[in-house]
Amino acid sequence: MSAPDVLVVGAGPTGLTLALQTHEHGATVRVVDRRSEAFRRSRAMIVHSRTLECLRPLGVTAALLERADRSPRAQLHLGSRVVDVSLGEAAMRSTPYPHLTMVRQADVEEVLEDALLRRGVEVEWGVGLDALDVVGERPRATLTSAGGHELATPRYVVGCDGPASSVRNAAGIAWDGGAYRQEIVLADLELEADLMPDVLHVVAGRTGLLFLFALGEGATWRLLGTRPARDGDQPFGQPGEAVPVADVQALIDDAGLEAQVREMPWSAQVRLQHRVAREFRHGPLFLAGDAAHTHSPAAAQGMNTGIIDAVNLGWKLAYADHAGPALLDSYDHERRPAARQALALTHTVFFAEASTHPLPQLLRGRMLPLLAPLLPVMLRQPRAMAAVITLLSQPWVRYPGSALSVTDGFLARGPRPGDRLPDRVVTCAGRQTRLHDLTASPGVHLLLARDAECAELDRLGPRVTGHRIDSWPGTGITAVRPDGHVGFRSARSAGALTAWLELVGAT
Ligand SMILES: Cc1cc2nc3c(=O)[nH]c(=O)nc-3n(C[C@H](O)[C@H](O)[C@H](O)COP(=O)(O)OP(=O)(O)OC[C@H]3O[C@@H](n4cnc5c(N)ncnc54)[C@H](O)[C@@H]3O)c2cc1C
Repeated sequence: MSAPDVLVVGAGPTGLTLALQTHEHGATVRVVDRRSEAFRRSRAMIVHSRTLECLRPLGVTAALLERADRSPRAQLHLGSRVVDVSLGEAAMRSTPYPHLTMVRQADVEEVLEDALLRRGVEVEWGVGLDALDVVGERPRATLTSAGGHELATPRYVVGCDGPASSVRNAAGIAWDGGAYRQEIVLADLELEADLMPDVLHVVAGRTGLLFLFALGEGATWRLLGTRPARDGDQPFGQPGEAVPVADVQALIDDAGLEAQVREMPWSAQVRLQHRVAREFRHGPLFLAGDAAHTHSPAAAQGMNTGIIDAVNLGWKLAYADHAGPALLDSYDHERRPAARQALALTHTVFFAEASTHPLPQLLRGRMLPLLAPLLPVMLRQPRAMAAVITLLSQPWVRYPGSALSVTDGFLARGPRPGDRLPDRVVTCAGRQTRLHDLTASPGVHLLLARDAECAELDRLGPRVTGHRIDSWPGTGITAVRPDGHVGFRSARSAGALTAWLELVGAT
């Protein structure tokens, strides 16, 4: 096999997305995973709207949404009160996905793997990275499978190999942070209980929140609970030893839910940590997803952040040959601060959800039940719900200080370079459409105001698509990167556009 441009180590959601994004932007890619088969039990159950937006140009969102619950409902159990919440009517603005989306991680992985297969990229299961070094500028990776050892020499290696990343260890990158004093208990189970079916149940107990998702694998319910961490040396973030039924029943009883475990085909404890790699890039070696940052499950950030890392990095690896060094450097500059912010968010939510500190205990055990009569009114405020769900979705991630964010001249209104492109209604070629519809294909998109002159338009290569926006008066030009962030904006001339296209390798 000839050396691919990119070797992706790990075929979790991050590695699969990275392979797809890299391939769609023109590079050759190889994906290996030491697991012997694709299926594994899901951990993540929630995909946020920003993640769906990022995946849309890769043509996988429709398949994901087919498997998802797009109008999930929840019941909050607060002492003896039960409060109904509709999570599908969040009324988030400026996104094609204004709802919370519940879908199993196994489904996300299957949809991504299918998309790769349709493009002729087959994940190599049962192939592990055993050793890695860099000679000159070229990585040398030793891959081991049942067939023996093999030396691979790709241009770049991306470690999407989870929290215990072999790529990160081989690159000698520090892993800052620590372990949590709590751990997660996961269980697929049948319950003897008077619970509304097909609804997410959240039970606020004094010792933490208990979740019952109607998304069990081989059972009706998937339980997620928190308890003080036990001693053990199982890998962090991965489902470990099975948990006795009595322990799961104790979690349910402590939360105050009247339910008896009838059957429990599967369970696992999961040790948790909060860490961020000190570099996301070391020469031709990159880290993405849990290999670069690892979280508690609170606020559902891990898989979502990993997918966004992959969408940020994939096109850059594919365009790097035609670009200056700033393109690949920008990955660490953009994504490490974003990962730190996501980590801070999960840390705060996990403290409120699961900490045994007296303050969150008081809030969960005493204050929430007292607030219960007010909650239905508060939760029925679409704006309040939208604000919370939007916060979790990360549309606040911006790259204004990135070397790839270039402004030419004075800009009055609208998104700035580095911002996510909002999904506004515009008129293009005589018909009304939305910006995210126009930009829903791989590559760079140029949005030209009605009177903008753009000499480059005739010389654009296959990496750039131009759109004339009739409803935008003036002469402005906006360039949108393949990850949906504005890269360049000019109020007038197109001179600086050529330099920007060269900067990102899109010429
Ligand atoms: C209980 C729980 C609930 C969660 N819920 C959510 C949620 O709702 N939303 C959310 O966004 N996140 C959630 N997360 C986090 C999410 O599961 C992870 O962030 C996500 O799995 C990370 O994906 P990844 O592809 O980066 O890494 P992983 O999923 O860990 O995949 C890494 C892959 O690399 C492979 N690998 C490892 N080493 C090697 C090697 N040397 N050679 C070859 N292959 C290798 C592994 O076999 C594995 O397949 C949750 C986590 C937990 C524990």
